[in-house]
Amino acid sequence: MTTAHAPVVSIRERYRDAVSDRWPVTVMPQPDELLSSWLHRLAYANGVAPKAFARVLGLNPGMWSAALDLRLPADIASLLRAKTGVAPDQLAALTLSQDLPEQFLLPLRYNGHRDRSAWLQFCCRCWSEDAQPYFRRRWRLATRVSCTQHGCRLRDRCPSCHGCIAVFDQAELVPQHYCVACGYDLRRAPIPYLSPETRTLDRCIDNICSLEAIARAPSGPVLVRRLLGMPGAGGYYSAMILTSLSTAARAYCADRLSRPSEWPLDYATDDEKDCKARRLQRLIPPTNDHCAWIELLANALGRRRGRPVVSEGNELGIKLPDLLGAYARMSPGPGRRVVQELIGT
Ligand SMILES: [Zn+2]
Ligand SMILES: [Zn+2]
Repeated sequence: MTTAHAPVVSIRERYRDAVSDRWPVTVMPQPDELLSSWLHRLAYANGVAPKAFARVLGLNPGMWSAALDLRLPADIASLLRAKTGVAPDQLAALTLSQDLPEQFLLPLRYNGHRDRSAWLQFCCRCWSEDAQPYFRRRWRLATRVSCTQHGCRLRDRCPSCHGCIAVFDQAELVPQHYCVACGYDLRRAPIPYLSPETRTLDRCIDNICSLEAIARAPSGPVLVRRLLGMPGAGGYYSAMILTSLSTAARAYCADRLSRPSEWPLDYATDDEKDCKARRLQRLIPPTNDHCAWIELLANALGRRRGRPVVSEGNELGIKLPDLLGAYARMSPGPGRRVVQELIGT
């Protein structure tokens, strides 16, 4: 018997992987990724559809991954650490309990009504740029209607079948940017219009409303109440609170409140307007003074509805559009140029 062409069998480095307890493919979390998003990507990379992956973790189907975003039980956290090698602090950072104000989280319910909230939003432009599209943690907040990076309006429904985003229910082995109900590639969704003022309000709220800032600021609880009550101030959805509305309805409310044209006409003379602009300039704190901005925003949101102001001070007269104009000038971001044009500076 000749051995000239016999295959050479040798144990290579990957043998260790083959006998490891870990799942074959490791998926690293992306910046600000939501736990459920990472779990769906992990399942897909290892050849398991999200719906079936619930059983791998010993969970019942349903909203299994969305529930884990809110609370990650210790036994599932240790299973995930053992099977993926992801560090405990990395895993904890994926959950919603870290630094986001829970009062603003979109609830885990969906009644199919056009104007009612779904629990998850996405930016189609982020997804068209992502190597592997993933959900950001901040897209779970009702106060968010625009994308930090692109400034465009978020979506919470599939534009093809108008269903909500239910990746936990996906029984097919496809990435999470395909609609579970109809298979539409959500990266291709048209980008809805969002006014520059609404974009500035959205960015301002996002920048100042961390869990820590709200807890520290004396006006924090008032601002939380007034933000949740924005639909009432906007008029059309007066019986609703912010977290119960769809992204489109929340964007509509924010737009009504932040547009200069929605406020009573100002009949001041040019001199009076100059004086007012100088006064505004003196009163506006730096954008990193979150405490002062929380108070200013709470006052401005309450002003339209005739509520008492949070504190006595000479900032009583600042209207929301003027406040946002000042914020846009100080804090560069998507839409800044357009806001400046609109407010005539
Ligand atoms: Zn984006
Ligand atoms: Zn669809």
